[in-house]
Amino acid sequence: MMKSGTLRSYRIERQTLLIDADDTLWHNNIHFERTTNAFIDYLGHSRLSRDEVRQVVNEVERANLKTNGYGTESYTANLIEAYRRLSEREIDQRALDEVFNIGMQILDAEIELLHGVSETLEDLSTRHELVLFTKGNPNEQRSKIERSGVKQHFKHIDIVTEKDVTAYVEVVRTVGAIADLTWMVGNSPRSDINPAIDAGLGAVFIPYEFTWEIEIEEISLPSGRFLQLDEFPQLLEYF
Ligand SMILES: [Mg+2]
Repeated sequence: MMKSGTLRSYRIERQTLLIDADDTLWHNNIHFERTTNAFIDYLGHSRLSRDEVRQVVNEVERANLKTNGYGTESYTANLIEAYRRLSEREIDQRALDEVFNIGMQILDAEIELLHGVSETLEDLSTRHELVLFTKGNPNEQRSKIERSGVKQHFKHIDIVTEKDVTAYVEVVRTVGAIADLTWMVGNSPRSDINPAIDAGLGAVFIPYEFTWEIEIEEISLPSGRFLQLDEFPQLLEYF
């Protein structure tokens, strides 16, 4: 981790900053947490603890990631599958509809930007090339970007199905950036930090308090260009 004593400025040359959206620019996973809690309430399991039910939901999510991808619809399908597995009541259409409605209410959640995001993006965009780089359901992500009020600060927007090394190499090529002058900024070790470092980019890790369990892993190579910050506005100290 870079400490303030080793503070380095990357302002001299124009950098390309790829920036994650969910739980980096705005709150996202808290809506899923809240909804999973509502699901656990509805399931009302007689023996399994809340945490045990949550583990089953996680298991289903992990198993379906490759085929179903990310986003509210996939998540809702996973809740329905978890319900089928765990329900102690007879499974009828009414119950399945209820679980469907519990999951899909995430689409109605307001976009709430994290602290200082709007001002920081505005400032950064005067010196650097900002690219919004997110994964998930394209329509859902696009709708959130539209509603966020910060779209205008980005030169490009790229929505992919998975943020792996290939996706990073591809986005750098698409926006015409130079890897040595490109950074990924995000909250997920699995999707934002490790694959970006593996693709030869710098990485700025800004942990989020409620990051989705599936996105958490060891940061494998903090020897490249790597910064860890407490919050988004601290980007202005470096860029
Ligand atoms: Mg994220």
